[in-house]
Amino acid sequence: MITTQPLNFIDGEWVQPVEGAVMPIREPATGDIFGEVADSTAADIDLAVQAARHAFDNGEWGRLTATRRGRLLSRFAEVILAKADELAEIEAKDTGKPQGVARADIVALARYFEFYGGGADKLHGEIIPYVEGYHVGVTREPHGVTGHILPWNYPAQMFGRTLAPALAAGNATVLKPAEDACATSLRLAELSMEAGFPKGAINIVTGQGAVAGAALASHPGIDFMSFTGSPEVGQIIQKLCADHFINCTLELGGKSPQIVFADADFNSAIPVIVKALIQNSGQTCSAGSRVLIERSAYDDFVPRLVEAFGKVRVGVPEMNLDCGPIITAKQKRRVEGFIDKARAQGIPVLAQGTIADGAPAGGFFVAPTLFGPVPRESEIAREEVFGPVLVVLPFDDEADAIKLANATDYALVAAVWTRDGARQMRVANRVRSGQVFVNCYGAGAGIELPFGGSGKSGHGREKGFAALHEFTKTKTTVFNHG
Ligand code: NAP
Ligand code: MG
Repeated sequence: MITTQPLNFIDGEWVQPVEGAVMPIREPATGDIFGEVADSTAADIDLAVQAARHAFDNGEWGRLTATRRGRLLSRFAEVILAKADELAEIEAKDTGKPQGVARADIVALARYFEFYGGGADKLHGEIIPYVEGYHVGVTREPHGVTGHILPWNYPAQMFGRTLAPALAAGNATVLKPAEDACATSLRLAELSMEAGFPKGAINIVTGQGAVAGAALASHPGIDFMSFTGSPEVGQIIQKLCADHFINCTLELGGKSPQIVFADADFNSAIPVIVKALIQNSGQTCSAGSRVLIERSAYDDFVPRLVEAFGKVRVGVPEMNLDCGPIITAKQKRRVEGFIDKARAQGIPVLAQGTIADGAPAGGFFVAPTLFGPVPRESEIAREEVFGPVLVVLPFDDEADAIKLANATDYALVAAVWTRDGARQMRVANRVRSGQVFVNCYGAGAGIELPFGGSGKSGHGREKGFAALHEFTKTKTTVFNHG
């Protein structure tokens, strides 16, 4: 049985929300309430920011060497792995994802702390050769107190993705998880103390975005914001940050193309393409949600894709099928809205996955749906559904493929499938995207690989060493030694 208490984690203690309000948390697989969490306000955020401020400015955390910070992160990774089964159970219950997937997410979460634990004391500065008689050093400093707002799709992984580099770089942190998936973050708060983090380094405040989230991004004690979620809220965050002259990273999703040329190895491409969409029920910012297929191969490729897609099965976490339910009733309605509209426009449904017998009636299940051929200007071809919906669009030649790949407002991830090496290079170079995969997609959790988009996909980079740079600022010190 998973228990959550409606408390925030501030300055190493569990504290009641100032106004005492609570909100229920639900299990997507059944629709049932399984606990309650604090429905916090600006007053709780203020307490958390004060705690982080103190930890950074005057506390033990701010005085730790990079090596000692690194060790703490590495120890946290070990604690997480030791509790992997319990954490996976919480994550699966809270998000509805298959238990095996939830467990892989916990392993990835640990890997974030392991990777950035190893990186903490390898973030070196540089010496710049300057004019005679001067010595110039450039060092990297943490921002100070960083704010983090999480989405609900990968709550555990996102916790690691945003907090691990921020902590490795020496920032003190305040995190607001998504109200629709915050149970794992609360358990991790507890485990961070077990790992030995000094109080105030990690503070977790649950609550609604428009209240607690907005209070966090606009708090004058916050020096940098890290946000993952929708483009609409990303814009709000950026404006709130601008009001007090701080910067932010925004990771906002995509409509990522799988560009398949006629000479591609379809047998290896198709399972990867299906999984890249279907994992997490399509609720993945980097989901490969558009298949662009060279027109000359359409009739050969599409029946094979239809066959693979039609085998996708949806169920509750314990069934460990290809994917689980949608996170909330509201998101389910949003996804169904896209499907209904595309159908009403006469766009053909090529295949649908099945919802397993025994999936509870109250769960937020949607049958995965493959549409094609899809008109280029249609909503379903251009907008992020954030659900198990895949669209197929034909293209004429290489130039047309690049034009079509770049024809959305997003630019997060892309894949090129072809055996032609020169074409791999040309297309990868010309596709507008933060990551491009050639004859593969996603390539594991990819913690080492810089990740992020442009346009409506947001800006700034996460993962890899790039994230350590985002969570630091340079200081240039010039010595006149005569
Ligand atoms: P969202 O509203 O952008 O939520 C993301 C986070 O922002 C949550 O923690 C949310 O809090 C918080 N938030 C909401 N309004 C806020 C505000 N005014 N100020 C500060 N923080 C605020 O996303 P959503 O509504 O859950 O999902 C909608 C769409 O966003 C999806 O369909 C998908 O397209 C996109 N999305 C993208 C990603 C991604 O990985 N890029 C992840 C999730 C969603 P609460 O939820 O607690 O209220
Ligand atoms: Mg939930």
